[in-house]
Amino acid sequence: MLFYRPIAAIAFGILILSVLSMACKKDASIPKIFKAQNAIVIIIDGPRYSETFGDTTHQNIPELYSISQQGVLFTNMYNKGVTNTMNGIAAITTGNYGALANNGTTSPNYNNYLYYFIKQYQLSNFQTWIISSKDKVDALKTCANCNHASNEIPQTNCGNIGLNTGYRNDSITTTMALYTLHTYRPKAMLIHFREPDYSAHTGVWNDYINGIKSTSKYTETLWNYLQTDSFYKNNTAVFITNDHGRHLDSIADGFASHGDNCEGCRHTSLVALGPDFPKGKIDASNYSQIDITSTINYMFRLNMVNESGKAIISLID
Ligand SMILES: [Zn+2]
Ligand SMILES: [Zn+2]
Ligand SMILES: [Zn+2]
Repeated sequence: MLFYRPIAAIAFGILILSVLSMACKKDASIPKIFKAQNAIVIIIDGPRYSETFGDTTHQNIPELYSISQQGVLFTNMYNKGVTNTMNGIAAITTGNYGALANNGTTSPNYNNYLYYFIKQYQLSNFQTWIISSKDKVDALKTCANCNHASNEIPQTNCGNIGLNTGYRNDSITTTMALYTLHTYRPKAMLIHFREPDYSAHTGVWNDYINGIKSTSKYTETLWNYLQTDSFYKNNTAVFITNDHGRHLDSIADGFASHGDNCEGCRHTSLVALGPDFPKGKIDASNYSQIDITSTINYMFRLNMVNESGKAIISLID
């Protein structure tokens, strides 16, 4: 029997080693637990990539560039749907490209991620907010033919005093966002600035550039708040992105407008920051706006039944 003992010992050793290696391997069936408890999306309206991260001097966005170095900068994020405000933001909120009116008279066909936050975590709707300088964005709080009760959809603070009341300055939106973060402690929030789109439409280049500069500063104000408030510090995923870009100089009236399929209108950017993400990384992979939604859906296990993007691998792996 002694003869068999070494063989038995070797076989036993191999068994132990293989069990150990299985335990060490990442098991795809066990979802990763993320540190982030909150999701904040900041949308800067309609800058062209060539005046933001596409300009290697980053002269218009020193604050945003500095922030990007604390997370992952995605240099090939694209609006692959209709390149206007309502459709660009709705792609991010619902994870689907649609064909909404751009004036706030129609709502998306699908529920937004804020609705799923309320459902999944049984939140008061005061813990989910949409805050925008443009009143029409209020129409994105719900979906067409959903007939949700008011406590099933996010709270909103859009435009002067809601739908059909006009746009307001981004400084007010920044103040309202800070107030809301401090007062209601939202778990999910979407903040949308009207610049630089608003000024670009006037066709005055300097005003357009100033709109890029001001939203870079307002975003820094929000980022700094999130870094110092103990409720949000080190447990919040932050996504800074755009609804669309603007025409290339060779298309129509160039920077003044947007809305077609040109590279300028489609190319946006994304900066993703949070305790679960790499720092100081640049990812040049091609991504679509709806992939932001999929990433949030995956991280927070929202069970969004209709979102159609793909979670961004360098953020969730
Ligand atoms: Zn826009
Ligand atoms: Zn516009
Ligand atoms: Zn265009």
